[in-house]
Amino acid sequence: MKFSLKKQLPSIPQSPLGNAIIAFIRNNHDKHWFRWTKRISLTLVASILLFLILNSIFPLHTKVEYAQLITAKDGSVLYAFLSHDDKWRMKTELNEITPELRKAIIHKEDRLFYYHPGVNVMAIGRAVVNNIFTGRKTSGASTITMQVARLLEPKQRTYGNKIIEIFRALQLEWYYSKDEILQLYLNLVPYGGNVEGVKSAALLYFGQLPNRLSVAQITTLAIVPNRPTSLSLNRNPVLLKQERDKWLKRFQEDEIFSDTLIDDAINEPLQLRRTPLPNIAPHLSYRLHTKYPEQAILKTTLNRITQDKVQQLAYNYHKRIRKYNIHNLAVIVADNKKREIIAYIGSPDFTDNDHAGQVDNARAIRSPGSTLKPLVYALGIEAGKITPKTMLLDVPSQFGGYSPENFDQKFNGAVTVENALVNSLNIPAVKVLEDITVPVFVNKLKAARFEQISRDERKLGLSVILGGCGTTLEELVGLYSSFANEGLFTPISSFQSSDGEKKTTVRLISRQAAYMINEILMQAVRPDLPTGYQNSYHAPPIAWKTGTSYGRKDAWSIGYNRKYTVGVWVGNANAEGVPELTGADIATPLLFQLFNTIDYNAAGSRLLAPKNMPLRLVCTETGLLPGDYCTHQVVDYYIPLISNTQTCKHMKEVPVSADESFSYCTACLPESGYKKKLYENLPPALVSFYNTWSVAYRRIPPHNPSCTRVFQSGAPQIVTPADGREYMVDATEPPEMLLTCHVDNDVKQVYWYINDKFYKAAKATDRVFFKPDLGEVKISCSDDKGRNTNISIVVKKM
Ligand SMILES: [Zn+2]
Ligand SMILES: [Zn+2]
Repeated sequence: MKFSLKKQLPSIPQSPLGNAIIAFIRNNHDKHWFRWTKRISLTLVASILLFLILNSIFPLHTKVEYAQLITAKDGSVLYAFLSHDDKWRMKTELNEITPELRKAIIHKEDRLFYYHPGVNVMAIGRAVVNNIFTGRKTSGASTITMQVARLLEPKQRTYGNKIIEIFRALQLEWYYSKDEILQLYLNLVPYGGNVEGVKSAALLYFGQLPNRLSVAQITTLAIVPNRPTSLSLNRNPVLLKQERDKWLKRFQEDEIFSDTLIDDAINEPLQLRRTPLPNIAPHLSYRLHTKYPEQAILKTTLNRITQDKVQQLAYNYHKRIRKYNIHNLAVIVADNKKREIIAYIGSPDFTDNDHAGQVDNARAIRSPGSTLKPLVYALGIEAGKITPKTMLLDVPSQFGGYSPENFDQKFNGAVTVENALVNSLNIPAVKVLEDITVPVFVNKLKAARFEQISRDERKLGLSVILGGCGTTLEELVGLYSSFANEGLFTPISSFQSSDGEKKTTVRLISRQAAYMINEILMQAVRPDLPTGYQNSYHAPPIAWKTGTSYGRKDAWSIGYNRKYTVGVWVGNANAEGVPELTGADIATPLLFQLFNTIDYNAAGSRLLAPKNMPLRLVCTETGLLPGDYCTHQVVDYYIPLISNTQTCKHMKEVPVSADESFSYCTACLPESGYKKKLYENLPPALVSFYNTWSVAYRRIPPHNPSCTRVFQSGAPQIVTPADGREYMVDATEPPEMLLTCHVDNDVKQVYWYINDKFYKAAKATDRVFFKPDLGEVKISCSDDKGRNTNISIVVKKM
C-alpha cells in the first residue's frame, strides 16, 4: 500500500514553522513514515496480545466482602452487620456519589482520572525520577485505579509489586467503567481501625449517608485515607480541621466549588463523633440477613417514621402489661394498597435477654385462636349457605365425636351469623366449617400462603377453626389485608426484591362476601371491646377481630381499614399462659393505640361498600326469605343467584283438638271438632336446648293417642355417644356412658335399647347413663310415635 500525505498537506495552515515541518516530512516520510507506523502498530498489537494473555492467566478478582446494610424504604439505614472479615466496609451506591463528592476526591487524588487508561505514564516517570534523585518513595504516581488495585490486593511497596499494580489497573479499566472504579475506590478507602469506605466513615462519624454530606464533611473524608497515621477521625481534631481548611482553600483556588460553598464549609465546625449504628427493626434485619447473607444492601419496605412510632408504642405498652407477667408482643403494620410491611416489631425489647427479646414473635408459629373465623363465614356466604342474618344454632353439638364449647362455656341457642362472628361463638363456626368442608377451607389458607397449615394439611380437622393449627402473625396480616382489598390476596412483602419478582394476586373470596364480613367486623358495639374501653380508648373506625388461644397463651387482635392492616400478638415467647391474656383485653388496646397513631384521621380510610350490594328482606327468626307466617322481617345483604332462597318455615300450622290437649295428623284428622293453631317449628337440637335450659316456647300437644299411623321422618337423633366411634375404657372400672338425644317438638317420651334389649324409658331431655360391655354395642332410641334410630359404637380396653 502506498501511503500518500501529499493531497492532505495543503490544509495545514501556512506558517514558517509549519512550512519547515512540511518540508521535513516531504523529505523523509517516504522513507520513515511507513516503517514507524508499522513499528508502532506491531508494538500496540503485541502489547494488547500480551495483556490478553496475562489477563487470562492472572484473572482479576474484585469480589469485595461488604458489611451488610438493612435499609428502610427511604434508604436510611435500619441495621448493619459486620462483613465476614469483621470490617465496617459498606457499599456506596452510585446514586450516593454526589457531584461534590466525586469532584473533591478526583481533584485531590487523580485529576486526570477520566482521561488516563488506569495508569498515568507522565506521573510514573516523574515519580521514578524523583525516587532516583531523592531516594524517597512517593505514592503520588498512583491513580485512583491503581489505588483500587492495591486496596483489592494489599502488597508491600516494591517496584515489582508496582508493576503488578499497573497491570491490575489496566485490567480494572478493561472491565469496569470509570464510575464503577471510583465506586470501588470509595468503598475500599481505609479510615483507620476496621472502618473502610466513605459510607462507613460518613455513617459512623457523621451519622449521615454519603449523599447527605456537606462540602466540609466531604473534604474531611477526602483527606484522611492517605494519611492514616497522622490524620485520623478519632484524634487530633485541630490538625484535621487545619488540613480540611487548607484543602478547602485549594479547592477554591482551583475553582472546584463556588466561593459561597467554600465560605460555608470553612465556617462549619468540625463535629466528629463516633456514633453507634442504628438498631431499628432488628428482628426483620436478622431474618433478612440470614436469608440473603451475600447482598450488600437489603432494602426493606419499612417506613422509617411508622416503624419508630410503632416501636415506641410497643415498648411502652409492654412495660404496662409486665405486671400480669406478660413480657412479649409482636406487631406488623401492612400497607394494603402496596401490599408491603411498613412496620415490623418482633418483640418489644430486643435487648431483654430475660424474656427472650431476640425471639421474632412476628413469625413464630402459634395457635391463631379464633382469628380464622372471618374466613370461614366468608366462605359460607360465598357458598350460598349463609348470609349475615342467617340463624345458626349455638347449642351443645357433636361433630363426629368432636364437641366444642364456647370460650365462656355457655350456649346461646339461636344466633345470627353476625352475632356468632362478633361474639366469636365456637359451635356455629364449626358448623359452617363442617358445611363448607375442611379441605375447601384449608385450600383457601394454602392459597393465602399459610405455610404450617400447608404442611399439616392432612392432620387438620374441624378444630382448625378454633385454633387447632399453627399460623404466624405475618400470615394472619396477609389474610386480613385481603378483606381490605375486596377479597383479593397478594403476598405481603417486607423487602424490595432485586430480581423484580412479580407478585401474583389470587381472588380468595368474592367482593360481596368480603364486604359482608367487613360490615360485621366494623360494628362498634361489641363484646370484644376491652373492659372499660369507653374511658380509656378511642375506638377507631376499623374492622377487627380478636382471638385467644387455648390455655391463654396467645392474645390476638387484627384490624384493618382501607389503608392499613395491623396485626397484634401479645403473650410470652416461652408460651406461658396467663389468666389475664385475652385478645379483647390485652391485644385490642394496643391495636387501637396503633391505629390512632399511624392513621389518626382514619375517616378517609373507611372501608367502602362495593357497587351493587343488593339487599333483601328476610325473616328475623331464621334469616330465610319470609314465609306466610313470618311477621318480623329485617333487611339483609345477599348474593343474587348464590345465596340460599329457601322460604322460612319457622311457624307451622297444626290441627289440634278443641281443648288443645292433643294434635292430629292427616291420617287421624276428624271431620270436625278440631282447630288449626300456629306453633314454632323448631329444629330438634334447639328443642333439646330449650328443654334443658327451661326456655319457654309453645309446644305442640302430644299426638292423638288413638292414631295408628307409623311415622317415618323425624326420628330421634342420638347425640351421645357418637355413632361409629371407638371408646377406650378402663376394664377394671368401666365408666358410665351418657345417652342423650334430640327429638321433634311434639315428642315427650323416648325408649332406650342396648343391643336390642329394652333398657330404660325416659323423658326426651333426661340424661340417661349405662355401663357398656366391651366390644361392639348397638344403641337404639325410639320415640312415642314409634320412630327409631340405631347407632353402634365399639368399646375397647384401655
Ligand atoms: Zn320466619
Ligand atoms: Zn295421627
